[in-house]
Amino acid sequence: MKRAFYFFIVILLGYSSVWPLTSGKQDRDNVIESKVKALLSQMTLEEKIGQMTQITLEAVSKVHGTKDQKHELDLKKLEDAILKYHVGSILNVWDVAHSVDYWQKVITDVQDLAVKKSRLNIPVLYGIDAIHGATYTAGATLFPQSLGIASTWNTDLVKKEGEITASEINISRIPWNFYPVLDIGRQPLWSRLWETYGEDVFLASSMGSNYIKGQQESGYKVTTCLKHFAGYGFPMSGKDRTPAWISERMLREYFLPTFQAGIDAGAMTVMVNSGEIDGIPSHSDHHLLTDILRNEMKFDGFTVSDWGDIKRLYTRDRVADSPEEAVRMAVMAGVDMSMVPTDFSFYDILLKLVQENKVPVARIDEAVSRILRVKFRLGLFDNAFPDPSLKNKLATDENTKVNQQAANESIVLVKNDGNILPLSKKAKVLVTGPTANMLSVLNGGWTITWQGDEEALYPKDKKTVLAAITAKLGKENVTYVQGVDFNKEDNIAAAISSAKNVDAVIVCLGEKTYCETAGNIEDLTLDTVQLKFANELIKTGKPVIVVMLEGRPRIIRSIVDGAKAILIGFLPGMEGGNALANIIFGDENPSGKLPVTYPQYPNNFTLYDYKPLEGFEGGNYHPQWPFGFGLSYSTFEVSDLTINKAEFVKDENIKVSVVVKNTGTVAGKEVVQLYLTDLYGSVSRPEKQLQGFSKVLLKPGESKVVEFTLEPKQLSFIGRDNTRIIEPGDFKITIGNLTKQFKLD
Ligand code: BGC
Repeated sequence: MKRAFYFFIVILLGYSSVWPLTSGKQDRDNVIESKVKALLSQMTLEEKIGQMTQITLEAVSKVHGTKDQKHELDLKKLEDAILKYHVGSILNVWDVAHSVDYWQKVITDVQDLAVKKSRLNIPVLYGIDAIHGATYTAGATLFPQSLGIASTWNTDLVKKEGEITASEINISRIPWNFYPVLDIGRQPLWSRLWETYGEDVFLASSMGSNYIKGQQESGYKVTTCLKHFAGYGFPMSGKDRTPAWISERMLREYFLPTFQAGIDAGAMTVMVNSGEIDGIPSHSDHHLLTDILRNEMKFDGFTVSDWGDIKRLYTRDRVADSPEEAVRMAVMAGVDMSMVPTDFSFYDILLKLVQENKVPVARIDEAVSRILRVKFRLGLFDNAFPDPSLKNKLATDENTKVNQQAANESIVLVKNDGNILPLSKKAKVLVTGPTANMLSVLNGGWTITWQGDEEALYPKDKKTVLAAITAKLGKENVTYVQGVDFNKEDNIAAAISSAKNVDAVIVCLGEKTYCETAGNIEDLTLDTVQLKFANELIKTGKPVIVVMLEGRPRIIRSIVDGAKAILIGFLPGMEGGNALANIIFGDENPSGKLPVTYPQYPNNFTLYDYKPLEGFEGGNYHPQWPFGFGLSYSTFEVSDLTINKAEFVKDENIKVSVVVKNTGTVAGKEVVQLYLTDLYGSVSRPEKQLQGFSKVLLKPGESKVVEFTLEPKQLSFIGRDNTRIIEPGDFKITIGNLTKQFKLD
């Protein structure tokens, strides 16, 4: 029976702020506000517009870095940029990661001009894509990509990743990281799925906010950039930078809460969605960038455009009929800084627009104040220069150890017939497949270069899957034949004949490295050549262990039955080779869980939190493996699900507890997952939604009580009038195979 309902607006899902509302913080804010005002009052219009301009390092360089050539700054161009155009920000590298020594020199050259020679000594805010670690610093600790770290379901680990990344970019005194991606990964074809924390709002909010806290509470003066605001990750065609169609209700339900969590965790900047929603390019969307982001979500940092996207309002989207109109639209919509990034057109145009009264000075002052506020908060006015004594903070043993744990926990075991895994270390194995002997396939894009595909530039001391297995078993026990090269046959016959002489075959399949639009595909199914190869190996009768290294769940239905075991590595990073060898040979017990639904069919992308309409009469959810799934070498049981009361009133917390026991023979970690179902709603409610999780380590035979507190806002959803509401009625909690109901009066 449909129940009666009442509405009340609640704030969007959020997490406690990094800056508690103490008088200390208030004092600090007041001091910063008065410094911002004082500085702004001395600035010329040109200096202000310069602050809103961001250029790429390429624009002030002579020579770009490649594997054979060292990057070189063009000091004349740099001087023009900083002293003539007053640019407030520079970003990234020109092609290849720099050493820490060279970074320290680049930043020193930049800040020497900005801090020592510019009229008002305003430091440059250097920004960088430090995506799974300090991407553009040679030798940095490079973690699993976001989809991999999300597979750990370990919020302590993602927090440590944030901390370590902050410490490693801080060596170069780079204080601004264009990360994390808080787009939700609900479109598995999308080439940037691996940059997300997966399909679920709660999981992504938890992982994202912990990463941010890790960076911003690290004690290093660095900040994060939430991107890409908002809805960028849901292109209808599945191709990067193609239109999204997202209703306001859907936007508020799925695509804004992660950003709210990021803002509440203290992120000081937001990058704008490079695409469009419902025909409105986000860079021109006042409703999104001002009404929602500023007025509703209370974001007080600054927004930066994505790469070249203001110009594209004219050149690509054609919502502006001139470059001038594009700049006017973006600035008036709420973009505070333009990642121009290769010229000074934005500066020239905006200056003219203000002089012609087409953009009010008040809007310029607002944007510049926001940028200066962040520069003050990051301590740049106190010290913008790198500290040479920090160089030994790069990739310390401690950092590598954390990364190794992250990689181990990121691997998801999805099939293990007859407990074939772990294999004995005395086994003789054939290691084969296109991803067996490459480091790039473990790391993906944003590794050393943008595309991450320069295998020759990868560190020589890191191990591919093959190298890690060889180190464990000894050369004499490992045969390697590549077999196939992604979508081309190589030496299949040699692989098949080698299979005959071993105890087991480890076939490493997956995707070649890519980043952004270059990763667009027409079909989610894995290359036919690879599937055929795996099937040929299966036909030899030897046990076949499939390792998938991929940035999105490529469909492998045709080999699932024949494979004895399957492991998924969503780009587990530099220690990924070791992690896989550790798991395959039993030095680690797998504990990863899927952060996305793994589809079985290319025409069924139904996600785990499907609607009743999709669950009706047999339903549409037929994944290869469901969201949250992952096996262990231990077995776990849950019992004694309790809820502290049967009926609750508005504003009360709900306390849930469950006992989890390791019923296996080895120690292992289990992710206890709490799902909530709102049984009836004025808007159709998902079958279930993750609302809590906890990863616990249990010895064989050990039990632990796991407790969850659900806050009232976790019962909320976006109602018919597009506001967030909570309705009274019946709810169901599911943990493992146990369920229990409660009522909200
Ligand atoms: C990407 C952003 C990135 C920016 C700067 C853009 O192409 O969409 O995610 O931060 O480039 O590298």
